[in-house]
Amino acid sequence: MSKAIYAGSFDPITNGHIDIVKRAQKLFDEVTIGVIQNPDKKSLFTVDERIKLIQEVLPSDISVEGFEGLLVEYARNKNVYTIIRGLRAVSDFDFEFQMALTNRNLDPKIDTVFLMTDVKYSYLSSSIVKQLAGLNANVSDLVQAPVEKALKEKLSNG
Ligand code: ADP
Repeated sequence: MSKAIYAGSFDPITNGHIDIVKRAQKLFDEVTIGVIQNPDKKSLFTVDERIKLIQEVLPSDISVEGFEGLLVEYARNKNVYTIIRGLRAVSDFDFEFQMALTNRNLDPKIDTVFLMTDVKYSYLSSSIVKQLAGLNANVSDLVQAPVEKALKEKLSNG
């Protein structure tokens, strides 16, 4: 059975992330979403909130987990050797290239598979969504309804 982990911050999950999940599900029998808990990166939503939102917007056949520490260790512990990352534009490439090779250095058995998003999501990021929602702009084309609602609640509560 082919397995892969789609890892990221998902702070919060956007339609661009969902596009990548759907593409990954066509290629792998089992896709797990691994939500990175990175204490150095300031996030709007807690890991538990991010997980809950992902569960609300994706079908239940996809498992979602939070993890701390090294992605390669998390993957290895699950016996998964394929990491999925999404690519939007050339600007993503440098960072993703560096990460993929670093992960391979840490564990040569681990490979990263890059999937290209639909062009309509190529400008979309969680940061842009947070900025727009913070300015009360309509984000309904960019995220699913539960995420839009959570953004409103979070940003109006301060
Ligand atoms: P990270 O902080 O680890 O980059 P993100 O949640 O921002 O986490 O992104 C997780 C993965 O999804 C990354 O590989 C990122 O390039 C990809 N991604 C983010 N937004 C999009 C999008 N609109 N289309 C395709 N891939 C995306």
